Amino acid sequence: MDENTKNFIHDFIDEDIAEGGSYAGMQIHTRFPPEPNGYLHIGHAKAIYVDFGTAQKYGGICNLRMDDTNPSKEDVEYVDAIKEDIHWLGYDWDDRFYYASDYFEDMYNYAVELIKKGLAYVCELSPEQTREMRGSVGVPARSPYRDRPIEESLDLFSRMRAGEFENGKMTLRAKIDLASGNFNMRDPVIYRINHSAHHRTGDKWCIYPMYDFAHPIEDAMEHITHSLCTLEFEDHRPLYDWVIENCSVPSKPRQIEFARLGINYTVMSKRKLRQLVEENRVSGWDDPRMPTICGLRRRGYTPEAIRAFSERNGISKAASTVEFGFLEHCLREDLNERATRVMAVLEPIKLTITNYPEGKSELLTVENNPNRPEDGTRTVSFSRNLYIEAEDFLEVPVPKYKRLYPQGPECRLKGAYLITCTGCRKDENGRPVEIFAEYDENSRGGDPADGRKVKGATLHWVDAETAVDAEVRIYDNLFADAEPDAGDKNFLDCLNADSLQILTGCKLEKSLENASFPHSYQFMRKGYFCVDNKDSAPGHLVFNRSVALKDSFKV
Ligand code: ATP
Ligand code: MG
Repeated sequence: MDENTKNFIHDFIDEDIAEGGSYAGMQIHTRFPPEPNGYLHIGHAKAIYVDFGTAQKYGGICNLRMDDTNPSKEDVEYVDAIKEDIHWLGYDWDDRFYYASDYFEDMYNYAVELIKKGLAYVCELSPEQTREMRGSVGVPARSPYRDRPIEESLDLFSRMRAGEFENGKMTLRAKIDLASGNFNMRDPVIYRINHSAHHRTGDKWCIYPMYDFAHPIEDAMEHITHSLCTLEFEDHRPLYDWVIENCSVPSKPRQIEFARLGINYTVMSKRKLRQLVEENRVSGWDDPRMPTICGLRRRGYTPEAIRAFSERNGISKAASTVEFGFLEHCLREDLNERATRVMAVLEPIKLTITNYPEGKSELLTVENNPNRPEDGTRTVSFSRNLYIEAEDFLEVPVPKYKRLYPQGPECRLKGAYLITCTGCRKDENGRPVEIFAEYDENSRGGDPADGRKVKGATLHWVDAETAVDAEVRIYDNLFADAEPDAGDKNFLDCLNADSLQILTGCKLEKSLENASFPHSYQFMRKGYFCVDNKDSAPGHLVFNRSVALKDSFKV
């Protein structure tokens, strides 16, 4: 987080650490608490930026905690991936890696404490009955078990733990206020019976704490000062505070909520992302079209671009949907600085320079990145036989077409020579298969010796004698609909059938032979690309387009 970044969370923290504030003189301590039931996505990147970034700004620390209080669906694969993604984004938790499930015994003891204080009771209403008796605005909730003697609740709660009762038979409820205008405070359930094995505690537990009870305890056990979370927990804050107030926890964290990040043309719920993977709608969690951190990384996104995106979106209380185009804009800005400029022909057609000597070849020196002279230069070979993009030739030009056509304008082969098209050779179907042109041997480097104006376009090209073959994957939005999540739409119906285009037989300049992930390249006129680190193999180069060159996003 930028030193000068300022938002409402910082205002709260500034108050808290000022003289007389509740955390005066204390080190700021935050946490990032993912549930290990899926891979992290760009929305989590925002939360990571808020949690780790805020700690960083105040010289504080941030814990990584697996929020694994829910026994089902948890997986070690996810835990490892989550760690990798956070490190890649540029953040670190040092040795403060925790599991919420490590606090199960403490949570149980705090629950017993509440019962003993007359602040919790075992309720035997079924889930349906509890719902029926929750009341409505102005009508209080009811539970016939509310005034059950403390001793009885203590006994039943320990028997719940011992496994005497089946799922749904009873719950432990906090005794707060059945008439509260905030329904979260109407004697919320804080423990439920669930005879399911947990991926870490195994069969030790058959009762599990509810999130609203568990989370404040986890925070307090870790001496978190500020528990930053998303807006849906705002109405739960009174309960968070109630738990902190009434359990003898070792510290008093403060919860502050901020708005979730939403992006158009994608979905962000882990459940939906998992469904895309499980139904093979994408190639995996790291499919380059996915909004996951691993997908974006494979696509060629940089941690810098993602951090800049988070920083520039800001943190607020107002929910909003950000344009996917803005994420791409942030990537383009970053890659524009760092990408090596190269030439690659994605849909090749032969170009023969008829007046260039056969068998001759020369090396031309080109800059790696005009924005960074320190990146140096390299050589590219030039000969009589080249490849250019098929779309850079038309036998019969359309209006305003400034590229190659017979008797058309003089065009520049980038960094090489000026050429004029003289004709083409066609196949039996009448389709051009080879373009002919003549070059001006006095225009080496691409500029005319006499200073005449070049009327045609500048084209990229690759020497056919040294070209390297590759497969190139071009991506579009995964969804054709800007809001696949909205209303009663089925997000699967909104998938974009053209989100992946695979081009084979692409011709790249020889320097790309040894390209490797994660270095970024700007393919002249075509966009930013990087090697696909999963599907590339020796002799089979695969490139992903990270983002196109054209920026339609207006900042
Ligand atoms: P999902 O709906 O994707 O499953 P979640 O909130 O259940 O999201 P968690 O693993 O619990 O996922 O999230 C860890 C942290 O990341 C939480 O603090 C959560 O608030 C935050 N987070 C999740 N999604 C977003 C988002 N889109 N924008 C900002 N923060 C998010
Ligand atoms: Mg969650």
